[in-house]
Amino acid sequence: MRTIFHLDLDAFFVSVERILDPKLNGKPVIVGGDPKYGRGVVAACSYEARKFGLHSAMPIRTAYKLCPHGIYMHGHGDEYTRFSKAVKSILEQYVPLIEQASIDEFYLDMTGTQRMYGSMFAFASRIQKEILNKLQLPCSIGIGSNKTVAKIGSDCMKPTGITYILPGMEKEFLAPMQVETIPGVGKVMKQSLNARGIYRIGDITKLPSDYLSAAFGKYGVDLWRKAHGEGTEYLTIQRTRKSISRENTFGNDITSEEELKNNLFYLTGKVCQSLRNKGWEASTVDIKLRYTDFQTLTRSKTIKPSDDDKIIFETAWNLMKKARNRRVGVRLIGVSITNFSPFNEQEYLFEDYEVKRKKMLRAVTRVRDKFGYESLLIGCAKLEKDIIRQKNYFKV
Ligand SMILES: [Mg+2]
Repeated sequence: MRTIFHLDLDAFFVSVERILDPKLNGKPVIVGGDPKYGRGVVAACSYEARKFGLHSAMPIRTAYKLCPHGIYMHGHGDEYTRFSKAVKSILEQYVPLIEQASIDEFYLDMTGTQRMYGSMFAFASRIQKEILNKLQLPCSIGIGSNKTVAKIGSDCMKPTGITYILPGMEKEFLAPMQVETIPGVGKVMKQSLNARGIYRIGDITKLPSDYLSAAFGKYGVDLWRKAHGEGTEYLTIQRTRKSISRENTFGNDITSEEELKNNLFYLTGKVCQSLRNKGWEASTVDIKLRYTDFQTLTRSKTIKPSDDDKIIFETAWNLMKKARNRRVGVRLIGVSITNFSPFNEQEYLFEDYEVKRKKMLRAVTRVRDKFGYESLLIGCAKLEKDIIRQKNYFKV
């Protein structure tokens, strides 16, 4: 069972315009075409304007008739992009898998993060507040077991709403809603459904799928599934390019392999600590090596998603050994991990050893958070002790 968030910024273009010009607060604001020439449509309108029956995609001419005293503007496209990126970078701090569906809509795969963040509802409220406090942008969040349900959820308590559709309740949640609530059901589809006496989503579920298939083909079957609360569970992943990395420039260039290994081990440990703190796993390990003469090499390897110091260190060390083919002093080394996915305990349910090890690593993470990184040494503990004693390790 997956946990998908759909986060939708409320009246996004209008919210940004209000940040740029606070005088627009509380007024009916319409971003879109020019009412003077009657060309174009409403791209976004404030909730004050919606009271007059305005909605996005409405011809601007119609909007002007309904709300002639509104404030009409073309908007600032560059600013929307800038704010959208700012929202995304807040999300990236917490969420390893994000699909940006449009400039103001994001799907987040939160599967397996309950243990890190506790209640999903509380976590949604926390992101919502952070986006509001840092960027002054209100948003609504839908939480569901698939994208369709989450999207419908985010829309049903706007603005600044959070709707959590409990797993197993999808069908009941959707039943009383109008058919056009289902994303993809447009005017034409709505009319042909209505003509068959189908008004609510619950009306669809009372019919056999064969009926919808005969009437609308493949699209009908898809609609029938959505009405039952089914939908796409996996995001079209644009893996965030963010990485967790550490590097160290040495006070004196290093030539000893042992010393290099110790330092890499220390850096890898730090990186894995941050990774586990986020509740993520990584599937790409990168290393960086810079010689005395500033020649710099990088190497990269993809692994099975992991948050284990041992696996990540071994991968990094093998890359380092292969990269280092000159007998010259080393000035800097670094390790970086990327391609994150949520840590999912269930995947390890039947692998006893892995479960135990993961629990142990999480315990280590907690102790270190409380008492400092050096309070607990694991794996090649002797190596770590050595470099901590040498104190030639950290200058970032
Ligand atoms: Mg929106």
